[in-house]
Amino acid sequence: MKTMTCRQLGGPCDHEHHGDDANDVINAQDQHLRQVVADGDTDHVPALDDMKGRWKRPISGMKWYRQAKRDFAALPED
Ligand SMILES: [Zn+2]
Repeated sequence: MKTMTCRQLGGPCDHEHHGDDANDVINAQDQHLRQVVADGDTDHVPALDDMKGRWKRPISGMKWYRQAKRDFAALPED
C-alpha cells in the first residue's frame, strides 16, 4: 500500500489517497476532484479541468499518466 496526495497528483491540497496500484490513486484523485468541486470548492477547479482534459486528449494525457505511474512506483511502501 502506498500513499499519494492530491498535491502530488496535480491538485491543490494534501488530501491523501491510498492504493496498491497507481490506477487506484489516480481514480481516487479523479473522484476527489469531482467531489470537492461538486461541494463548492473552487481551488480544485483547474485540477479537475486538467483531469477532464486528459481523458479527452489521450496522447498528451498519457504523458501525465505515465509520470504519475513513475512517481507512484518511486514511493516507499506505507
Ligand atoms: Zn485535493
